[in-house]
Amino acid sequence: MDAFLGLRPGDAVERVAATLGCSPASPQVARYLDQHDNLGHLRENFLVPKVSDLPPSDLAVADGGADCIYLSGNSLGLQPRKARSYLEEELDNWARKGVHSHTEGARPWAWAENTIEGLMADVVGAKTEEVALMNGLTVNLHLLMLSFYRPTSTRHKILLEDKAFPSDHYAVESQIRLRGLDPQLSMLLLAPRPGEDTLRTEDILEVIQKEGDSIAVVMFSGVQYYTGQLFDMHAITEAGHKQGCFVGFDCAHAAGNVELKLHDWGVDFACWCSYKYLNSGAGGIAGAFVHEKHKDTIKPTLLGWWGHDLKTRFQMTNMLDLQPGVSGFRLSNQPILLVCSLQASLEVFKTTSMQALRRKSLLLTGYLEHLIQHFYTEDPSQPGRPHVLIITPSDPQQRGCQLSLSFSVPIRRVYEELQRRGVVCDMREPSVLRVAPVPLYNSFRDVHRFVEVLGEALATSS
Ligand SMILES: *Cc1c(COP(=O)(O)O)cnc(C)c1O
Repeated sequence: MDAFLGLRPGDAVERVAATLGCSPASPQVARYLDQHDNLGHLRENFLVPKVSDLPPSDLAVADGGADCIYLSGNSLGLQPRKARSYLEEELDNWARKGVHSHTEGARPWAWAENTIEGLMADVVGAKTEEVALMNGLTVNLHLLMLSFYRPTSTRHKILLEDKAFPSDHYAVESQIRLRGLDPQLSMLLLAPRPGEDTLRTEDILEVIQKEGDSIAVVMFSGVQYYTGQLFDMHAITEAGHKQGCFVGFDCAHAAGNVELKLHDWGVDFACWCSYKYLNSGAGGIAGAFVHEKHKDTIKPTLLGWWGHDLKTRFQMTNMLDLQPGVSGFRLSNQPILLVCSLQASLEVFKTTSMQALRRKSLLLTGYLEHLIQHFYTEDPSQPGRPHVLIITPSDPQQRGCQLSLSFSVPIRRVYEELQRRGVVCDMREPSVLRVAPVPLYNSFRDVHRFVEVLGEALATSS
């Protein structure tokens, strides 16, 4: 595999096909890439649903005993194999030792989340003390904004994407209202140029430069959930800082997907959920990051006992000994069962690195792109063939593993046909499919099968 990793993904696929003497679209290419994938064994750490277990599958057109083609890790990551035994351990501790489990055993509940924050920090490029696992993503976004959004009469705006994830949009809007300000005036929404699907970095930087004086917080996603665009977080952070803004990122679609260097980039704050690329299960415990440079200056607005220093937390003196940095933002004791499933996943990440995963990811997603372009044209002047436009940027440095495919035909029928055949991906009507080959557990064969099945689905539904 290493021989191909330096090449552009499309060139690597062509090179493999030439070596094998077959078409780049041949399943032989996928087989070869899987055989040479030094991360292929990681799939063993996850439970891949069988086609027969998926409600929409139709055993007349799909092999029920096969693994499904799971391409929805951007929405809900697969279950780590160890999650169940870790959960059972704590159910057992609860049953047999009750309250003693708060402080006893291999995973004492009272500080269990602290024991996996180092693993979490590695995945997002942070120091352990810059990361807290707590709450859900939107809750963390609110808690962080309560401290980082400090509007003044001249600097009161929050810059975000025009089509940000709804929860982020609502969170920002309500934070603005909470300060008695008008979202019409204080919410600065940045849309792509007319006729374009994604934002240009130069346009983002220009807005920050031009309007920076009035911007209190630049709040972007790391990877855009709909288009799959990976933003240049480093450049955005620098541009924001030059104008005196705080810069925060929602890394829901970036954590566990792309290499993050939250610390080195100097990002002020960040938050992310753990059930997408981090495989902790629906509603899993979320992450928050506050850069260490703010350790003594940025304080939590809302307080709870979990922000108190662990050493004296349970003395109950009501004299707050606030932990510095993000640790002080903790409010409640953390859900041990959610810690278990996240631990199971982070331990798999620990056996590799985001750098290695990213290397595979570039090839895996590049392979998907290559196959789509092989079979489907983006050129609407060619009649008779369905057109598929990849709205995700073609520059691999501007995307994670997800490709968002926009079809010239209504997508619902196609999507239903895909589901009948054991494909799990995401549909956004009227015409977009979001497909995420995850380097942690997806194979090149998954990608090849998907494209094959997509052909059948398009043929059947047209
Ligand atoms: C998935 C996602 C959310 C979901 O928020 P929860 O609080 O975890 O329900 C919010 N924002 C973004 C950008 C997301 O991708």
